[in-house]
Amino acid sequence: MALTVAIVGSGPAGFYTADALLSSGADVEIDIIERLPTPFGLIRAGVAPDHQTTKNVARKFEKSAIADKSRYYGNIALGRDVTLDELRGMYDAVVLAVGAASDVKLTIPGADLDGVYGSSAFVGWYNAHPDFRWLDPDLDTDQAVVIGLGNVAIDIARILVRTRTGMASSDLAYHAGEAIWQSPLHDVHMVGRRGPLDAKFTNVELRELADLTTCAPVVDSAQLPDALPDGVDGREARLMQRNLDTLREYATAEDCGTKDKRLHIRFYANPVEILGDGHVEAIRLEKTEVIDGRVKGTGDFFEIPTRLVVAATGYRSIPIEGAPFDDQRGIIPNDDGKVEDGLYVVGWIKRGPSGVISSSRPDAKSATAHILSDLGEGGKPGRQKLGPLLKERGARVVTYADWKRIEAAEDAAAENGAPRRKYATVEEMLEMLGG
Ligand code: NAP
Repeated sequence: MALTVAIVGSGPAGFYTADALLSSGADVEIDIIERLPTPFGLIRAGVAPDHQTTKNVARKFEKSAIADKSRYYGNIALGRDVTLDELRGMYDAVVLAVGAASDVKLTIPGADLDGVYGSSAFVGWYNAHPDFRWLDPDLDTDQAVVIGLGNVAIDIARILVRTRTGMASSDLAYHAGEAIWQSPLHDVHMVGRRGPLDAKFTNVELRELADLTTCAPVVDSAQLPDALPDGVDGREARLMQRNLDTLREYATAEDCGTKDKRLHIRFYANPVEILGDGHVEAIRLEKTEVIDGRVKGTGDFFEIPTRLVVAATGYRSIPIEGAPFDDQRGIIPNDDGKVEDGLYVVGWIKRGPSGVISSSRPDAKSATAHILSDLGEGGKPGRQKLGPLLKERGARVVTYADWKRIEAAEDAAAENGAPRRKYATVEEMLEMLGG
């Protein structure tokens, strides 16, 4: 009898797991359960819209989605349409691949003012994630502040300053493009509480800023160290040196040429308060120093006037009813992917929000190894029970064939060199499918 496996979440971690199970040669029946009608999680709604080559991995995942042994259940939400306990009753194994859908929240005064967003909302908005279609950020500002020195901060800053032409071959959400290109935004400040050598962004992403046609990266050379600190060597030293070299190039650029916008990368600046009456009007920061790896305020403060603050301060997973949760680490506690017999985790819910798309591949291998060694032969009914249950509850399952129709409609609606024009609401997608 086939081992029945439900994978909850159809992002990279979920699909790598489907791949690993299918290629194990074991007799498995895999159901991929996804809250949205559309598959691929971060590939569709997290990876920057102008990084199309990163999204190509979805083509490989498609092979698993259409394999005989697997089935896609889109538009089915855990907790709304079916509970984890119910899934565990129906399937031999449940693999949670639900990612990190929330943010590390800013806790400073003013963080709840209008005009302050977390990166999951802001990135979701410009990537046409249905949860954030109506975010409608006020971009009537000539300065914006992005908090954080990671790759998400760089993505957000870059998207805010790229031109319509620069984004032509992207799948930026239509509503976001219209808002961004009408904005008087001129200066984007990316601010971080640590120094250049502690920044989390990677060099490819940092270098990409030099290619912006109408925006120049600006760095203060006084914030850059003359050399790497003692004791740093090997790969770590090479990566630091690359970033330092790029930052030096930016700092020593004579002028910004014809580029009229500025992307300021500012180190040693810790946000301490967001100011405004109902809506953000400015952000107050304290200059810092980093001593033995710890950030220390200097007592010297400054403000940047702005109506838009985006905190790109990291993502965080949301607890799932029926599964344990380590609130401090923001993950489901696990032993290399195993929570307990029959329950497994992969990707960001397993190890926290870090790494690139392919970082979830080893997670998939571990979960597969656990499943095959823990469970032996299957016995639970899987989709034979899930299908009737969802029908009884009136859930509208979006099949993979339905998704291909959504995809075809998005491709057909694309204009001016864009790969697709994404639907941004579930209602539009279901309406297109015919109810
Ligand atoms: P990240 O790399 O962890 O960066 C988070 C940034 O926020 C850090 O600079 C951190 O500073 C700062 N921060 C956290 N809490 C803060 C606070 N309370 N006040 C001020 N600053 C704070 O996270 P991310 O940028 O969200 O990226 C998540 C993962 O996705 C990363 O592994 C990233 O590389 C990956 N990603 C990759 C790409 C790509 O490959 N192109 C694109 C996007 C994302 P401290 O260091 O001081 O804590």
